[in-house]
Amino acid sequence: MAEWLGTGLQNLVHRFDSGRRLSTKAELLKHAVRDVDSERVIQLGSAGALEEADALSWREFEALIQQLFEAAGYECRHVGGRRDHGADIIARKKDEVLAIQVKHRRDGKRWVGERAVQAVVAALPLYDCTRGVVVTNSTFAPGVKRVARAHGVVLRDRGWLRAEVAAYCVICGKHVSPRVRKWCLDRPDEFRGQVYCFEHQRRFANVLRIA
Ligand SMILES: [Zn+2]
Repeated sequence: MAEWLGTGLQNLVHRFDSGRRLSTKAELLKHAVRDVDSERVIQLGSAGALEEADALSWREFEALIQQLFEAAGYECRHVGGRRDHGADIIARKKDEVLAIQVKHRRDGKRWVGERAVQAVVAALPLYDCTRGVVVTNSTFAPGVKRVARAHGVVLRDRGWLRAEVAAYCVICGKHVSPRVRKWCLDRPDEFRGQVYCFEHQRRFANVLRIA
């Protein structure tokens, strides 16, 4: 399961600031959030990416999660909404079909309970899925893990999301390995909590040397 989100995401999320485009890598996001009204998005690999994810609307957050799975090579279909029958995204890769239930918590803290697991289990036959996944920017209530395990449902919590939104170079959007990510995040004085691919680390270092 860990290799799910291991492939390259070339076109990333960009930030719009009062209508002004600050980044040009818009293609994938446009696709992912096409029916989202707001233009607020997040910049992956930046120091504040996780908090920016908290501030998204639930629909924007669903779009972000869809985007992360698409980056991992899944073909995604959004089926969510107010009456989502327990799944927000159906993600397919080869024989694997995931029913993904997305739970967004504005505060990033309020527990997600057992009901989310039950809902996604109910969605499995409805969409011919092979496995259920519950993703949240928060954490799961005690005991949910046990229920999920019994149903073969995969739980992805805030810790997972923190790693995922930091898995991309903040400049070029290239997916970086866990080692590169750790290298950057372990050196806050040098990289200021941002993640850079090898190439941009070098350039960054050069700039610092000149300055
Ligand atoms: Zn880069």
